[in-house]
Amino acid sequence: MEGKKNRVDDTFWSSRIQVIMKNALPSIFHFLQETGRWDLMKMKIKEGSKPHYFWDSDIAKFLEALCYSMRYIDEGDELYLDFILWINEATKMIINLQQADGYINSYFTVVDPENKFKNITENHELYCAGHLLEAAIARYLVLGELDLLQCLERYLLLIYEKFGPYEGQMHGYPGHQELELAIGRLLDLRFDERLFNLLQYIIEQRGFGNGEFFDEQAWLRGVDPNIYIPGDSEGRPVWPAPRSYWYYQAETQIRDTKEAKGHAVRQTYYLAAVQILANLKKDDSLKVAVTRLWREIVDKHLYIHGGIGSVGQWEGFGKPYDLRWDCYSETCASVGLIFLCQSILKDRLDREVADVMERSLYNNVLGGVSLDGKSYFYDQPITGSKGLKRQSWFSCSCCPPNVARLFTNLQDYVSTAVDNFIAIHLYIGGTYEGRNYSLKIQSKYPYEGEVSIDLNTVQEKGVAIKAPKGAYSINVDDYQEINGYIILAPRVWNDQDITLSFEIDISIVQGSGKIEANKGHLAVEFGPFVYGLALSGIEGDVPLDALKMSRNVSFEKFLENEDDYFFWALVCELDGYKCKFVPYFFLGNEHPGEDFRIWLKDSDTQKDSEAPEYSFRVLEHDDEHQEEKPDSQINYGDAINYWSAVPASVDGVLGGFGERTSVPKADIVGSSTFLRKLRSRLDCPSGYEKLTLDVGAGIGRITRDFLWKVSDSCDLLEPVKPFVQQMTKQLEPVRASGKLGDIYEIGMQEWSCAENKIGRYWLIWCQWCVGQLPDEELVSFWMRCRKALIGNGIGTLIVKENIAPVEDIFDDTDSSVTRTDAKFRDLFARAHFKLIATDKQKGLPKGLYPVRMYCLKPT
Ligand code: SAH
Repeated sequence: MEGKKNRVDDTFWSSRIQVIMKNALPSIFHFLQETGRWDLMKMKIKEGSKPHYFWDSDIAKFLEALCYSMRYIDEGDELYLDFILWINEATKMIINLQQADGYINSYFTVVDPENKFKNITENHELYCAGHLLEAAIARYLVLGELDLLQCLERYLLLIYEKFGPYEGQMHGYPGHQELELAIGRLLDLRFDERLFNLLQYIIEQRGFGNGEFFDEQAWLRGVDPNIYIPGDSEGRPVWPAPRSYWYYQAETQIRDTKEAKGHAVRQTYYLAAVQILANLKKDDSLKVAVTRLWREIVDKHLYIHGGIGSVGQWEGFGKPYDLRWDCYSETCASVGLIFLCQSILKDRLDREVADVMERSLYNNVLGGVSLDGKSYFYDQPITGSKGLKRQSWFSCSCCPPNVARLFTNLQDYVSTAVDNFIAIHLYIGGTYEGRNYSLKIQSKYPYEGEVSIDLNTVQEKGVAIKAPKGAYSINVDDYQEINGYIILAPRVWNDQDITLSFEIDISIVQGSGKIEANKGHLAVEFGPFVYGLALSGIEGDVPLDALKMSRNVSFEKFLENEDDYFFWALVCELDGYKCKFVPYFFLGNEHPGEDFRIWLKDSDTQKDSEAPEYSFRVLEHDDEHQEEKPDSQINYGDAINYWSAVPASVDGVLGGFGERTSVPKADIVGSSTFLRKLRSRLDCPSGYEKLTLDVGAGIGRITRDFLWKVSDSCDLLEPVKPFVQQMTKQLEPVRASGKLGDIYEIGMQEWSCAENKIGRYWLIWCQWCVGQLPDEELVSFWMRCRKALIGNGIGTLIVKENIAPVEDIFDDTDSSVTRTDAKFRDLFARAHFKLIATDKQKGLPKGLYPVRMYCLKPT
């Protein structure tokens, strides 16, 4: 039993969880009663009600959320009595409903007893069983009560007898996956071989013989599967053709499935369960299958707000890259995607997976519920053109309690403990206790990038923290970054604080050309949030579709407070109109049903090479881009041609940011300040000369403006002839002072340290030039720098470069690559340099890449 030990306590999320408990759960309870669900569970049919075979699942999810809520409620709290009452009543109802053979389902007990287990394809009995089991697990975990779990285990054994490979058993599997997920979760808690076999059977059997089980089921109930098409609640056909078993992910078995298809909730629940089974079995072929389909979903079906499934007819996936704006994108499908990401993260750490989980959580799922917790979106188009409003209830009301159970159990997604490692996937504060450890996270995210982690362990444990996407600093010396996680080696932790700080940047996202709807459009993101612009956010009268946004639009941030709900609003000017963007989740709260856009027209239809650098990225996976790695596109000849053609001036070497801008001065001030801070690490003992090398020196700007002042002798390296000529003029005063050393008119790739200078350099300065080398060449250049530096930790390498926000970016202007902070750290490590300090350059104009200084010593 975990009781209250595990719970979120967070600047952003705590109020969300409170709203769910105070407003959502009582409102859901009201509807469960009003619609007759509560009565049916007590085996009574409420007058005027129309019972449905999935009703038990709504009560189950409600009960599950109530149980998880008890983590946050103490005796004496206002909600305490109600919640305990509802929990006890629901538990009693379910236990009383159980039949002698173990069977539990209110509809098929009260309304249609003849048809128990007769239509596994459509009747949701196994789906309901899964949800009831999840409620029982929650009750056991938080309240320590085994009663409901034992009751459900009896039901599972009945299912175990009914389904399997042997004669007399049904060789089938649920029409709506969920039981798989629930059993997987149970097995994580209490292993039972029979249930493990059941789980394995219903997962691996799925899709056998092109879904022949569903054919058999149809024939048994007197239906010809070759002409049958199911209808939705309003009688509209759900499938485009008979036997569309892809709808159930039952066209092929899991290992042979290549595409994400069909009903999106079913698909994600299924994959999450397959991953759990794969983790339990250590089955690589299953893991490969899940990873392949996860990739398919993320690359071809994921909306920017974390929704999936564009087609309303079958509540699921359209063709690859069909990301139409007026989409279905059901809240529950995003909840399912979060389940899937979580189960993958229990197997392998991968920032992309954690980021997808974050995207769905902070956008689609959070937006699925109103600020007051009382109304919900079922489907979530990414435009407000249809005027959709959140509603307090639906005839098929899966989403409200699904969000409620996710939010009240959020701590399960923040961190996981696998093997000897404690991993943190979301920057959400709280206490997270596991076997032999306690973890406390304090976080200012998403308002600020500051997270502190306090860890106590009994045994040695490693720690893995999802690395921020951009630059960050952490107060630990010894770490590695692998797959986007900061890895700290195993040790015993005693109240040690780990602090992680990072910038949260606004980014402009470009729509991938493969996605018709997003072509030529841009969107705005800030931290985990996708932003949208509603009509009420525009000062003036202009249609949303007429507005154009530029890639280098600049925003001002304002902290807004709405219903105790703080968020940053981003204000900018578009086509002369003042526009206020707000996070997607906030849209439709003040003005329900109002029109909004996430994607706005891109004003720069043609990339303008004169325009300042901007930070934007292609969110949707772009195959062409992927095939060719950014650094493989570098061409030395193109680079030299470019640099030979620009003026041999500060303006020329700084790409237009010359002396009439603040850049050169800010740069020199930033560099001197950085060196001043590092004074003690740059000590040059007597007997050594302060010999420096200015790499990719251009016209010698850095040596002229500052390096020579701190050096005894200055060497420079620069391959471009006109620059070298200009350099000799610029450096006259340096020559006069006797400090000018050798000038090497070659590229970094050709340079190796002169014999007589090996082990003699005190400082090697690489600025705004290492992007000219591909990764491998750069590592090998830095290895040669190591040899050139004075030994014993005296010599230092400084690298000062632009930082790409998300991934390396190739720039064809000067045939160079802009690298991410993570990539730099990786390359430093590979060249056997240790990072001893890093700082961000301050005071650069908006719209430029951030610039970072790194101070490195040979290891
Ligand atoms: N570091 C200087 C110049 C930056 S401009 C400053 O900050 O003022 C980039 C410089 O890198 C140019 O001078 C260009 O000629 C040089 N460069 C281009 N390719 C290079 C290579 N392969 N090796 C070394 N320098 C290179």
